[in-house]
Amino acid sequence: MIVDNKRISAPLDFYQNWKEILAKSIVSVDQLERYFKVDSAALRNVTTIYPMRINPYFLSLIQKENDAIWKQAIPNVQEIENDSYSVDPLFEEMQSPVPNLIHRYPDRVLFLVSNQCAMFCRFCMRKRRLGSSHRISSKRINDGLSYIRGNRNITEVILSGGDPLLLDDEVIQWILTRLRAIPHIGIVRIHTRAPASLPQRVTGALVDIIKKFHPVYINTHFNHPAEITEVAASACMRLADAGIPLGCQTVLLKGVNDNEAVMRELMLKLLKLRIRPYYIHHADIVKGTAHFRTSIQTGLEIMNRLQTDISGLCDPAYMIDLPGGYGKIPLQAEYLKKEYSKTISGNLKGET
Ligand SMILES: *Cc1c(COP(=O)(O)O)cnc(C)c1O
Repeated sequence: MIVDNKRISAPLDFYQNWKEILAKSIVSVDQLERYFKVDSAALRNVTTIYPMRINPYFLSLIQKENDAIWKQAIPNVQEIENDSYSVDPLFEEMQSPVPNLIHRYPDRVLFLVSNQCAMFCRFCMRKRRLGSSHRISSKRINDGLSYIRGNRNITEVILSGGDPLLLDDEVIQWILTRLRAIPHIGIVRIHTRAPASLPQRVTGALVDIIKKFHPVYINTHFNHPAEITEVAASACMRLADAGIPLGCQTVLLKGVNDNEAVMRELMLKLLKLRIRPYYIHHADIVKGTAHFRTSIQTGLEIMNRLQTDISGLCDPAYMIDLPGGYGKIPLQAEYLKKEYSKTISGNLKGET
């Protein structure tokens, strides 16, 4: 796109070094002003509370002011309008037996191994941790590993953060090696937005490391069809070709994807990349993100259409994470509506 006569480059070359791209991220309102006309004073108030990071690749996806990519990346004054929400409504900190490890369900833990992200999503559900720049110490990671080692009920570890793929290859290899040495861990899952936010991160070298530790699943995070570029598609192809089952956790976001046509296009594009849509998340009630939240009714209407109009391969659950740390539950549209009840009433009676 061209803004104020400055050209933002087209999606960056796949072979460009991801760290170099990341190093050129926009992190200040001064830098942002060079590209867009924004209310700088107001946005400075936002970024002192919730920092900004937009890497040049993600920036290049913005087509016009206030589009779906813009809304996810550019700070908005509504983030600091007073809302009554908590910074941690899901009680993640309280459910952390050791720092950086959330143990909510008996059999699986969320292990926050990275503080870094390739971009700072404005709707982030861990906004409370946003921008903490210190590296997570190896002692913390070791404490997490010890907890997992000492708890035989845990059969699955989900690496999350931040974005685990923002760690260096050697660190990822180190963590995966330690996890695989624990006999009761069957599944390793990686939650990462990198295929969408910085696909250049998915190098051949990284994929060669990950595939040595199978079964490794990856759930990625695309929210809009405009995020599915050729570069992103190549990244996903590399992962799928390495035998890594891919899922996608999309967040339902007002003004981004809260309409059937957009969601449908996104889902179909994901399937073509061999990504199974896994969850569509109702946006959490996290402080500073209220302007992104739709009603549950809106979500159910979209889900209703998707369920009838799209291939059965595309069957994401519409999930809400209950405040208070009670976990996720699926929100389901009613199927036994009046118009169907006659047709199925025979089936419902069952055999006698
Ligand atoms: C979402 C979540 C998980 C994973 O849940 P799945 O339904 O298996 O994807 C695990 N732990 C915590 C704390 C979570 O929030």
